[in-house]
Amino acid sequence: MSSSSFNAFAMAQSQFDKIAEMLDLDQASRDLLRTPNREYHFNIPVRMDSGNMQIFRGFRVQHNDARGPGKGGVRFHPMETIDTVRALSMWMTWKTAAVDIPLGGSKGGIICDPHNLSLNEQEQLCRGWVRQIARNVGPVTDIPAPDVMTNAQHMLWMLDEFEVIFGGRYPGFITGKPVGVGGSLGRKEATGYGVIITLREMLKELDIRPMDTTASIQGFGNVAQHAIDLYHQLGGKTLCVSSWDQEDQTSYSFKKNDGIDLEELRSITNSFGGVDKAKAKELGYEILDGEDWLKQEVDILIPAALENQITRDNVALISEQVKIIAEGANGPTEPAADDEIKRRGIQMIPDLLANAGGVTCSYFEQVQNNMNYYWPRDEVLGKLDTKMTTSYIAVSELARQKNLYMRDAAYVIAIGRVVQASKDRGWI
Ligand code: NAD
Repeated sequence: MSSSSFNAFAMAQSQFDKIAEMLDLDQASRDLLRTPNREYHFNIPVRMDSGNMQIFRGFRVQHNDARGPGKGGVRFHPMETIDTVRALSMWMTWKTAAVDIPLGGSKGGIICDPHNLSLNEQEQLCRGWVRQIARNVGPVTDIPAPDVMTNAQHMLWMLDEFEVIFGGRYPGFITGKPVGVGGSLGRKEATGYGVIITLREMLKELDIRPMDTTASIQGFGNVAQHAIDLYHQLGGKTLCVSSWDQEDQTSYSFKKNDGIDLEELRSITNSFGGVDKAKAKELGYEILDGEDWLKQEVDILIPAALENQITRDNVALISEQVKIIAEGANGPTEPAADDEIKRRGIQMIPDLLANAGGVTCSYFEQVQNNMNYYWPRDEVLGKLDTKMTTSYIAVSELARQKNLYMRDAAYVIAIGRVVQASKDRGWI
């Protein structure tokens, strides 16, 4: 878990400051972009199944919308903080710019643990979140999506509430909806697939065949499972995954030396991405400590769980064999760990590029909503591949030309685009 002293917003600001220095940005640009444009904090009253009222705390942070309406997920997490949401909203601004889609950056959250909420209580929470923020979000202002511990069902409850309030059908209000109610085919696999598309491109550059590689992955939720799916289709082998154990309130790693079987492991995993430890043991998986996914002798590491997981304290655990880290999660690597990764010459595919497949497909979902015309899955995934590949190549070329760390190159492109749009609008 993230350590309690970790502050994601401080990390996001320090990443921004570094690039602002590199680009020699003027003071107004720095002032505009290192804090969110606006943020909302509110109470959400929910009548629990017991009949008692409980008040939950909700947030929406809108970092920047110079390039288009704000875009970003809504997370359910018991440890959610406003600073985490601020950081994530800023990272969304950079991410939409890095893959050059006409959207800005936002993020939302509710402090709650859905493990302990009935479906009815979760529905009330989703509807309550929308009631509090409905007038400040919408298809042309700020578009929510699923994120940690929220899914297509939550999005549909949120959409339904929005449509009740505004009296019409507004499918473009939210993305990640179920297919058949305005959702896009390919959306649920888009983030994980996007991670592997960028990985495929990097392996190509390094002249390494995917089938000659092994990987270890933190997390076994939406992003991780679909990343594993495409990685295995390319011939790669995943030796280890980790997940959060709700009962023990800790994480474990699950290892098989001849490679995990995705479907087998999925069949013993709950809807929150928690693997059943006892059943995994029966199926012959070695059960290791939560952090052990990082120590594995593999070629590729994919953090795909939470922020702040590769830190100055554990970066030394990364084995000599590791050549690439592809960040499925947002902000999984602390800046101090980044320095060490760079020093060791491990290649980094940074979050704002690697996991941008989700928001790219969310954008495709909105385009389809606006046209009221839906594309087949292959068309969606084909467009996703083109966007991710083009974006990867642009970042990689800049990194090579200017001898930059890949994260810095991605930031230079993204921040440059947002600064330009803000200047063009006369904001700075
Ligand atoms: P998810 O809730 O589906 O899965 C999270 C996984 O992480 C679960 O398997 C959970 O057990 C595991 N986990 C949680 N805490 C852990 C810990 N301390 N140690 C090990 N495992 C732990 O979430 P997701 O949608 O897969 O998102 C994962 C990450 O990817 C997040 O950082 C999210 O912000 C980012 N992301 C998600 C999307 C998307 O489209 N879902 C898009 C971009 C980025």
